[in-house]
Amino acid sequence: MSNSHSRVLILGGGLSGLAAAHRLQESAPGELEVRVLEASPHLGGVIRTDHIDDMLLEMGPDSMITEKPWALDLCRRLGIDQDLIPTQTRFRKTLVVRDGALLPLPEAFQMLAPAKILPFLRSPILSIPGRLRALLDIVIPRGGPPPGGDETLGSFVRRRFGKEMLQRMAQPLVGGIYTADPEKLSLATTLPRFLDLERNHRSVILGLRRQASQPTTQAASGARFNLFQAPRGGMGSLVDRLVEQLPAETIQRQTRATGIRREEDWVVTTTEGEWRADGLIVALPAPRAAEVLDEMDPALAADLASIPYASTAVAGLAYKRTDLARDPDFFGIIIPATEGSGIVAISVPSVKFEHRAPDDMVTLRVFLGGALAPTLLQKSDEELLSIAHTEVQNLLGARGEPVLQRLARWNESMPQYHAGHTLKVLGIEEKAARHEKFALAGNAYHGVGLPDAVHSGEQAADSLLARGITGRIIARKDDAR
Ligand SMILES: Cc1cc2nc3c(=O)[nH]c(=O)nc-3n(C[C@H](O)[C@H](O)[C@H](O)COP(=O)(O)OP(=O)(O)OC[C@H]3O[C@@H](n4cnc5c(N)ncnc54)[C@H](O)[C@@H]3O)c2cc1C
Repeated sequence: MSNSHSRVLILGGGLSGLAAAHRLQESAPGELEVRVLEASPHLGGVIRTDHIDDMLLEMGPDSMITEKPWALDLCRRLGIDQDLIPTQTRFRKTLVVRDGALLPLPEAFQMLAPAKILPFLRSPILSIPGRLRALLDIVIPRGGPPPGGDETLGSFVRRRFGKEMLQRMAQPLVGGIYTADPEKLSLATTLPRFLDLERNHRSVILGLRRQASQPTTQAASGARFNLFQAPRGGMGSLVDRLVEQLPAETIQRQTRATGIRREEDWVVTTTEGEWRADGLIVALPAPRAAEVLDEMDPALAADLASIPYASTAVAGLAYKRTDLARDPDFFGIIIPATEGSGIVAISVPSVKFEHRAPDDMVTLRVFLGGALAPTLLQKSDEELLSIAHTEVQNLLGARGEPVLQRLARWNESMPQYHAGHTLKVLGIEEKAARHEKFALAGNAYHGVGLPDAVHSGEQAADSLLARGITGRIIARKDDAR
């Protein structure tokens, strides 16, 4: 790196690191030398789009919520917003497994609770006593931990709706997003909307019904699929576009950071030698950030290491449509942990998005492992693919082998926002702020989705710019959107 410009090193070439690099380049063009040090040959972290024959298979994330503006906004600035496609509304349906059978999620069921009572009462996902217990939410008083206490999602759902609702509906729905144990997950950090509903309306169900009657609210079931979009060419095309916009020398692949120390400037030791810079952004999963920061700031590293992570694997499978007894006309299947398969969910990309597979093919993504089945991933790739295929046989009546199968393992990829997470992150940020021209980014802190990753990278870049990394003070952009 030359001496004429301020220099910034970004550790990690996942979406958060790339978004940080892009923000620095667009905010201070020509004034900064930015380098992204990425351990692997692959950019984009857990984003991996495979193109096989005429099929597009996402082995990591496949869609982004547009309710949070940051990823969409980045796409606009990259000039690829025209390429964003919505999910196929007419197939917007989620099924739940009960004792091996596929049952549709009742209309207007929203993650933890129904916004419409009749469809919920008619649905056989819960036993009749289970349904009646859930509806007690309408009459029971407000409850919960003392003010300031961080209630787990499991405790909240059991308290308001009963154990069966937790096991059969809330756990698999939430598991499909966070791959988490609801008995540990912080409700306030992950789904604060439901705490607000209880606070403001006493009954969550009545609160949802009131909200649903407002003209802007649309009733969908499960995750609110109408809010999801994806680049036509897959998530990988977002990464490609980001990288195209950066000067060629910005990206340093196969350069794993191994340690950090502070001299006059930042010094990062890597598998490819030492790198020096004026500013440093650590955009790594928290356990990896803890490793590299351990010598420089053991207290910060200990806090980072205490954020738990879950691992998951995605099996991408393709079948001839005629080989499936049940032709999927839904987005996905969620599988309660009580079913004991170790499979969290199955999604159907060839249905969810147009043109992801030829008409005579069905593609599936089977999610295995997560916080509730951690030992499953000790199995070999072949075994995991076989478990995934067997589940497809059981649920969709697959005859014969898949015409295509591949597996991606995402070890320690999903941060778990357990009760106490918000306080922990406050402590981390307070310690990080003591270091000059230093910022953390990634999905470990304020949100696990793609828009959150973009936002955290951009905020890290903005914080360095605001602290004069270019030699001039650039006003921090207003993020209160
Ligand atoms: C299977 C799966 C499906 C998902 N689906 C969705 C979805 O549909 N929608 C959604 O919004 N979100 C989804 N998510 C979440 C979302 O993809 C992630 O939150 C986001 O991509 C994280 O980006 P990141 O940059 O923070 O971390 P990562 O993607 O983990 O990137 C971190 C990078 O750091 C690198 N690295 C690690 N150690 C070092 C080191 N020592 N030195 C240098 N580099 C290092 C890694 O190689 C990696 O490239 C999904 C996640 C997974 C795992």
